[in-house]
Amino acid sequence: MAKEVILLKLGEIALKGLNRRTFEDVLLKNIRRRLTGAGEFAVTSVQSTIYVEPKNEEADMDLAEERCAKVFGVVGYTRAAVTEKELPKIREKAAEYLRDVLEEAGSFKVECKRSDKKFPYKSPEISAEVGGYLLEQYPHLRVDVHHPDVIVRVEVREQNAYLHVDPKPGAGGIPVGTGGKAAVLISGGLDSPVAAWTMAKRGVELTAVHFASPPYTSELAHEKVVRLLKKVSEYAGRIKMVTVNFTKLQEQIRDKCPEELGTVILRRFMLRAAERVARDEGCAALITGESLGQVASQTIQAIACTDAVADMPVFRPLIGADKSEIVKLAYQIGTYDISIEPYEDCCTIFTPRHPRTKPALHFVENAEKAIDGEALLEEALKDVRTTQIMP
Ligand code: ATP
Ligand code: MG
Repeated sequence: MAKEVILLKLGEIALKGLNRRTFEDVLLKNIRRRLTGAGEFAVTSVQSTIYVEPKNEEADMDLAEERCAKVFGVVGYTRAAVTEKELPKIREKAAEYLRDVLEEAGSFKVECKRSDKKFPYKSPEISAEVGGYLLEQYPHLRVDVHHPDVIVRVEVREQNAYLHVDPKPGAGGIPVGTGGKAAVLISGGLDSPVAAWTMAKRGVELTAVHFASPPYTSELAHEKVVRLLKKVSEYAGRIKMVTVNFTKLQEQIRDKCPEELGTVILRRFMLRAAERVARDEGCAALITGESLGQVASQTIQAIACTDAVADMPVFRPLIGADKSEIVKLAYQIGTYDISIEPYEDCCTIFTPRHPRTKPALHFVENAEKAIDGEALLEEALKDVRTTQIMP
């Protein structure tokens, strides 16, 4: 019997009816994979709770907890003490294991769940017994059943009893892999990593497409994107990154297309290229970090011109988000500090002085004919660079 386990509470997953089994299987697999390197654990699921139980003393519980906090599909997580199912042992363990929180607290109550109906005491009796003992041990405490500072939770299960306080909020969402696969257009900016994370939260497995234009963009800029994706992969799991060289295409657009349409034309080629990569990688949708009105290429008209070249659905999870909301998420995911590092992105080189904010599709289509886009695309896609991103 392990002395301590990590309990994970499932969210929406519990509501998925017939799919529940599949969802749970994917989640268990994701958790096991995410625990790699933290030691040996048994991961099992019983009644909407997942038990992460160390198999030996070497297992790193702090690291495992940190990893579990980033698994989508988990709404809450907590460490719990494991005891034998004997009332004196349960109450003594509660006093010892929860010392820090109980010393801090002013009031508390005990809540008990008993799934082993053969256990000789009923839940209210167990709660009263444990509560009484805790009051003896911590005389400064008082019982408050309505608004306690701390709820001591006792779960009497088939094998053992578990003691813990309320779970901390988990990553939420649904398990990665249950929502299909999509390709995210990733830059070194603030928005696209957050967009990627947001879609992974809804169960989407990610492939990443990045456009680089050396020598205008540097190897350091590329490495920055790798580090951003690494952060995202702590939540999203493994991500394959495909880097497409856009130097020639960008130079041709700069030299041959009307300057004020340069941005929207570039974005159309990005979407075309990304869609082809996506198809090769078995993805069924594209993701971008656009947010309405943020820059000239993110007006309704410009987005319409970009979307016109894509057959796949293009998800823009941040379309209605303010910059401050995106920044807040970037902090939470851990991408903010990396995103603000100053490296050139292919979007920020050759930028037009006065980009057209309301481009009309037929003008854009015409303007684009000045370059041999298809040949340039084929050339760019012939020789891509792939990087495997692991959490
Ligand atoms: P971000 O913060 O994600 O860079 P942004 O606000 O800077 O976005 P743009 O530079 O116009 O806006 O880019 C819009 C979207 O286009 C990005 O969110 C991203 O999805 C995609 N994108 C931009 N640059 C690149 C690039 N170099 N490689 C791949 N995708 C890109
Ligand atoms: Mg950008």
